[in-house]
Amino acid sequence: MRYAEPESVEAALSALSTHEDALCLAGGASLVAMMNAGRIAPGMLVSLHRIPELFRITETGDGVWLGAMCTHRTVAADTRLRGAMEVVRAAARQLAHPAIRNMATLGGSIGLADPQTELPVALVAASALAEVASANGRRVVPVESLFVDSHRTSLQRGELVTRVFLPQGAEGAVGHHLRYSRVAADYPTVSLSLVLDMDGDTCRQVRIVLGSCGPVPLHVDAADQRLVGTRLEAEDVADAGGLLAQAAAPIDDVRGSAEYRRMLIPRLLGRALSQARERAHV
Ligand SMILES: Cc1cc2nc3c(=O)[nH]c(=O)nc-3n(C[C@H](O)[C@H](O)[C@H](O)COP(=O)(O)OP(=O)(O)OC[C@H]3O[C@@H](n4cnc5c(N)ncnc54)[C@H](O)[C@@H]3O)c2cc1C
Repeated sequence: MRYAEPESVEAALSALSTHEDALCLAGGASLVAMMNAGRIAPGMLVSLHRIPELFRITETGDGVWLGAMCTHRTVAADTRLRGAMEVVRAAARQLAHPAIRNMATLGGSIGLADPQTELPVALVAASALAEVASANGRRVVPVESLFVDSHRTSLQRGELVTRVFLPQGAEGAVGHHLRYSRVAADYPTVSLSLVLDMDGDTCRQVRIVLGSCGPVPLHVDAADQRLVGTRLEAEDVADAGGLLAQAAAPIDDVRGSAEYRRMLIPRLLGRALSQARERAHV
């Protein structure tokens, strides 16, 4: 196996193009574990650790750009991620355990596209954008469009995510993330991210996204719309939860049966909405 440590994105793209089965190495938390387990054997690893621009965080007037090599720990600690953007910070703060949060990165979480993980869920709830670099230049796409199936992204061979943009969202909007797991630090049985914008006691906008409920983060527009214009009464929340549970396609595994996951959805939604609502009124 070959190994490269390029010092620019352009050099990384060039290294990735030299091998049919080259992969970029970010935190390595999942990639190296999969290699150790013999599940993959890339011909070349292109480390992203020496590329300064991938670690950069830039605040603009309308949001924050986070470099793809920002670790979950860095994201969790960044107090500039307020309001709607807080949803990503909250997910980064809660996921896994300190060793993983110290190693694993934003770009790696997108590249892995594991439906049992929750950072992608929070990014989709935040309506995040990703900058993707390829030999043809750079383009910016919704992060949601990158997740096409379990462990499969729409990134083409040799492409990499360089940074992620979190829009600041409406003034007063609140981002919130909740996970339900068997024990602390386990992968979530179900995770739920949302961004809530209240007008007094009435829901002006909401965007709810579920994890571990299908091959990609699940966003059901009809569930959001069921809550818009309501006072988030129990009946409204139960209906929206029902729409989400109906659309979900969870699997049976050691963390819970599909049926159990469907039961959790309305409960997590109710809890997440009431916690987000309290914060919206502070
Ligand atoms: C034990 C364990 C527990 C975990 N628990 C959770 C959890 O509870 N919740 C959660 O959300 N996540 C969890 N994760 C996943 C973790 O958050 C990361 O998503 C994952 O480890 C990948 O990040 P990484 O930086 O280590 O990427 P790597 O392992 O280095 O790479 C993963 C994949 O992404 C590709 N890649 C890396 N960087 C880029 C890039 N910039 N552009 C394109 N492709 C790229 C790589 O080529 C590889 O295919 C867990 C991981 C482990 C190992």
